[in-house]
Amino acid sequence: MSNRFVSGKTTLCGIIGDPIEHTMSPPMHNAAFEQMGLDFWYVPFRVKREQLEQAVAGMRALNIRGLNVTIPHKVAIIPLLDELDPLAGRIGAINTVVNDNGVLRGYNTDATGFLQALLEKGVEPRGKRVVLLGAGGAARAVSFVLAERGAHLVILNRRLELDWAEGLASRLTETFGKEVKAPELAEENLAQALEEADILVNATSVGMSPNVDETPVTSNLLKPSLIVFDAVYNPVKTRLLREAGQTGAQTISGLEMLVWQGASAFELWTGVKAPVELMRAEVIKALATDEN
Ligand code: NAP
Repeated sequence: MSNRFVSGKTTLCGIIGDPIEHTMSPPMHNAAFEQMGLDFWYVPFRVKREQLEQAVAGMRALNIRGLNVTIPHKVAIIPLLDELDPLAGRIGAINTVVNDNGVLRGYNTDATGFLQALLEKGVEPRGKRVVLLGAGGAARAVSFVLAERGAHLVILNRRLELDWAEGLASRLTETFGKEVKAPELAEENLAQALEEADILVNATSVGMSPNVDETPVTSNLLKPSLIVFDAVYNPVKTRLLREAGQTGAQTISGLEMLVWQGASAFELWTGVKAPVELMRAEVIKALATDEN
C-alpha cells in the first residue's frame, strides 16, 4: 500500500460500477500515478443503476478529472455526457470519461486497448480473418475496432433469440460497407469459421473464474497457425489459451487488454505516458490477492 498523502491539490479519478469490489483498476492506476510522480488518486465508487445521473452530476460538482465506467453503466451514461469520441459513438458504449473544466467526454479504451494489445504482440489485424465469439459489451468494442482496422469478421454468439450478434453484424456491415456474418455459436459453424481463420477472439465469459475448466472452443478445432486472444483475464491463462498454446498457436491474454485500456485512460487523464510494465505487474498482484 502506498504511503502517499492526499493533499488539497490532489486530482481525483475513479471507477463507477455495480458490483465494484473486484476491480483491479485502483491498484493499477495508483501505482502508475506514484511511479510518474503525479499528485492523482484513484478510488472505486459503487454506483447503483438508478443513481447514475447523480453520480455524473457529482463528477462535475466535485471536479473529478476522470472516471472509468463498468457494468451496468457503459451504455446508459452516454446521454449524460457532453461529447463522445467518434469510435465510442459508433460502438455505443464507453468505459472512460475525461472531465475538461466541466466538459465531459466519453471514450472506449476497451476497444483501443484491445487493438493496442494485439499490436504490441506484433499482430496486425488489417486484412486478417477474425472469428469473434460473443456479442456482449466486450465483443461490441472489439468488433468495431477490428472492422475499423480492416479485418474480416465472423461473429458467433450462443443465444440467437436475442438477435444481438445479428444486430451487431448488420450495424458493422452498414458502418464499414463490408459484410459481417453472424451464424449461431454451434460446433459445425465454429469448425467451418475456424478452418479459414487467422485470429480467434473469445469475448464471451466462458472460462472465467470460477468456471476455469470451461472453454468456448474444443481443442480439436485449434491449429498452430491461429492467433488466439481471450478477453477473459481471470485466470490470466484460461483453458482456451492453454490448449491453444499446446498446439503451438500464439496466445494473448485478456490481461493485456485490461492493462492497455488502463494505460490509454491514464494517458487521457494525465497527458503522461503510462508505465505499462508496472501496471501489468500491479494487476497480476491484485489478481493473486483477489483469489485468496
Ligand atoms: P456481457 O456483455 O455480459 O456478454 C457476455 C457474453 O458471453 C455474451 O455474448 C454471452 O452470450 C456470452 N456467454 C456467456 N456465457 C456463455 C456460455 N456458457 N456459452 C456461450 N456464450 C456465453 O459481458 P462482457 O462485458 O462482454 O464481458 C465478456 C468477458 O470479457 C468477461 O469475461 C469479461 O471479464 C471480459 N472482459 C475483459 C476485458 C479486458 O479488459 N480484458 C474488458 C471487458 C470484458 P449470450 O448472449 O448467449 O448470453
